[in-house]
Amino acid sequence: MSADRGGDDMSADHDDDGVSGTNGSDGAENPPIRRLADWDPDRLHGIAAEHGTPTYVIDLDRVAENCERLRAAFPAADCRYAVKAHTGRAVLKTVRECGLDAECASAGEVDRALAAGFGSDRIHYTAVNPPARDLEYIVDLAAHEPGITITAGAVDTLDRLVERGYDGRLCLRVNPGVGAGHHEKVRTGAAAKFGVPYDRAAKTARAAAERFDLVGIHAHAGSGIDPDQLDAHREFVSRMGDLARTLTAPETEQDTPGTEREGDHADPDPIDLEYVDVGGGFGVPYRETEPALDIDAVASATRDALGTVPTADGTGTVQLAVEPGRYLVADAGVLLTRVNTVKPTPEETVVGVDAGMTDLLRPAMYDAYHPIGNLGGGDGSTPEAGKPADREPIPVTVAGPICETGDSFCTDRPIAEPVRGDLLAIGIAGAYGYEMATQYNSRPRPPEVALSSEHDARLVRRRETHADLTVVEDDVDETDSPIDRIGGER
Ligand SMILES: *Cc1c(COP(=O)(O)O)cnc(C)c1O
Repeated sequence: MSADRGGDDMSADHDDDGVSGTNGSDGAENPPIRRLADWDPDRLHGIAAEHGTPTYVIDLDRVAENCERLRAAFPAADCRYAVKAHTGRAVLKTVRECGLDAECASAGEVDRALAAGFGSDRIHYTAVNPPARDLEYIVDLAAHEPGITITAGAVDTLDRLVERGYDGRLCLRVNPGVGAGHHEKVRTGAAAKFGVPYDRAAKTARAAAERFDLVGIHAHAGSGIDPDQLDAHREFVSRMGDLARTLTAPETEQDTPGTEREGDHADPDPIDLEYVDVGGGFGVPYRETEPALDIDAVASATRDALGTVPTADGTGTVQLAVEPGRYLVADAGVLLTRVNTVKPTPEETVVGVDAGMTDLLRPAMYDAYHPIGNLGGGDGSTPEAGKPADREPIPVTVAGPICETGDSFCTDRPIAEPVRGDLLAIGIAGAYGYEMATQYNSRPRPPEVALSSEHDARLVRRRETHADLTVVEDDVDETDSPIDRIGGER
């Protein structure tokens, strides 16, 4: 286990030189979390001035640092990126260059991973109640690219693959019956929706091995493993280790976990598993007061809990695989938004901004906390590098422009007193941020600017236009736009 880092003694009040986080290659300067205060406010002001608001910023060097830290903690494991956290091309390329595989949750994600240059042998498609269209896409692809692996978690899915003639690489998703996670909507380990039940897993795996090239078993216990939940994590990983040993063992052991007792299946062939994938869900400290996850501690707990799993021929060991999403991208992103309304009310001060739940859904959907910093500028001054707006904090609700009560980013949060025109930065927004953005209320989605030492600041997704809102409708063409008819601009 690598122990060359300083631990999680992070101070939110980071006095830097204003160019923090742009040298991803230096492993010694790779803190476990980048806080909102670590971003250079001048640079963020410059981006907002050039591209308007709301705008996402993603730092590719930070993504690379997160990948490197993960790989250093799990040196012998297969490290995969659950791309659904952020599928932007620039992020996918960065992760690919860092040597991680792509874990995809839909045919669309597989398509984007291929387009970003992942070889099919580095793509894992996890099918949860997969639409027929997705299965057909993947099976067609596999006919040309047999290196792809399909992870399936229901006997029906296996049958549907056989019906389509698939007999290639398969990984069985198991429901280990223990879950971790920060919110019930993302706690998947104990939810019956995901994976075959644990007590039927060995039998299902053996049947699957007759029809496919069974290369792995998989479980994902939910998102948000934090330092308090290591016990649940250990328990579920150790169940996966037990199951894997049962499957690779030369003969059936009676009463082993994951094995239904049945007399008619005496000495099944050992299964030649390549890996045991224990999913993602590594937590990220959204609150300034939360310590960062000690990834080395998680890694060693994971290895201990898994134990050694000998390969079927007894000459090697089955690999551990991990596939975090959030951990790799969350702290690499911020959402910039500008204050347009400050409304004191008897109860609270409501600060209206131009970003809403359509841009960043997590607070409305999961009650998620995101740090919010006031970078100032509304009073005509630009703050000094490294300092937020120099005003006393007052408790505020920050709310967006959407006609929904859930459309707020915080309530009763002390923030340097906002004035109209201030730039706010919403932190730790790189995971499930742009990815969950919608066009609800006919709101074009925001642009995204990527930072890197290689390209400095680069617009990697443009802001959508009103025309983008109707582009899929059959009876709308450009000339329908009322604003064109009246000769205005869009
Ligand atoms: C969402 C998901 C992940 C990643 O979850 P994070 O909390 O972002 O790490 C990994 N594996 C599977 C199967 C998932 O669905």
